[in-house]
Amino acid sequence: MVIVMKPTAKKEDIEALANQFRAMSLEVGVTNGIDCTILGLVGDTTTLDVGKISIDPNVERVMRVQEPYKKANRKFHPEDSQVTVGSATIGGGCFSVIAGPCSVESEEQVIGIARDVKRAGAGLLRGGAFKPRTSPYSFQGMGAEGLDFLLEAKEVTGLPIVSEIMSPRMVEEFERKVDIVQVGARNMQNFDLLKEVGRISKPVLLKRGLANSYEEWIMSAEYIMSEGNENVILCERGIRTFETFTRNTLDVSSIPAIKKMSHLPIIIDPSHAAGMSWMVEPLAMAAIAAGADGLMIEVHNDPPNAKCDGQQSLTPAQFTALMKKVTALVDLCGKKLVQ
Ligand code: PEP
Ligand code: MN
Repeated sequence: MVIVMKPTAKKEDIEALANQFRAMSLEVGVTNGIDCTILGLVGDTTTLDVGKISIDPNVERVMRVQEPYKKANRKFHPEDSQVTVGSATIGGGCFSVIAGPCSVESEEQVIGIARDVKRAGAGLLRGGAFKPRTSPYSFQGMGAEGLDFLLEAKEVTGLPIVSEIMSPRMVEEFERKVDIVQVGARNMQNFDLLKEVGRISKPVLLKRGLANSYEEWIMSAEYIMSEGNENVILCERGIRTFETFTRNTLDVSSIPAIKKMSHLPIIIDPSHAAGMSWMVEPLAMAAIAAGADGLMIEVHNDPPNAKCDGQQSLTPAQFTALMKKVTALVDLCGKKLVQ
């Protein structure tokens, strides 16, 4: 961290401030320029509050030279992280596809889709039991019963299951029943929830918020990791922009950017980004080419009658056709498709 002192700052005030940091076990280099003095802090500055330091009347400007995240930082962990669940692996050269309905609607529905996506090459089954809907009058999901239907589909197909958690009160049940706990875009900065899922033993799939920066997203991963759970997968699902043609705008740049900033795996959800089933395939292809570690794709047996997100859901036949292309491109990109 670099602190630029005001030209009016007195020598004894600068020394007093420098000593405050030294008392925090930081090394402080003092550079006296012609007009002002600069303090260079070396050591762990993650807990320092830039805003608080800026309040000092002798301080002109405070600049971080290091990222505020540690555990998720590529600098301190150069090799790619990998998350393995059952036979599926995401990250570190391995690629897995998570597929299934937006929401679990019945036992037969989810078991049928699970069979279809497994046959097509998916490595994990998704399905929402608790749904974050914009309207309180829309279908809110089947609740705990939905998780039990997912478990039955897992028993039939062997596919590990991924489902979204909305409340810290549900953590114990999710830890028991679900293989990957999904934190949705709307809860990316629900810090209580992040801390709770940081204390469980199951991997967490952390979606990017609708209007959050890469750094804010990684800081949310840091919340989970700082509680002890380092099995975090990031998922880009499109962000809000001025464009209204698509439901969201898929930020393909997030893939190389996250890979530079963090060692965590990143997967892409083209379904929620596009909001239209016909656009899922080209976005999925772009994601693989840009270096994604996996995909999350919504598949429904009867999209026109789906209770949620039918317009962006692929039929099992469309998903099967997509998986043929995915398999070829993943291979061409030098990754291993793990089912
Ligand atoms: C979902 O995956 O069903 C979902 C609600 O996604 P998001 O949080 O990205 O909107
Ligand atoms: Mn959905």
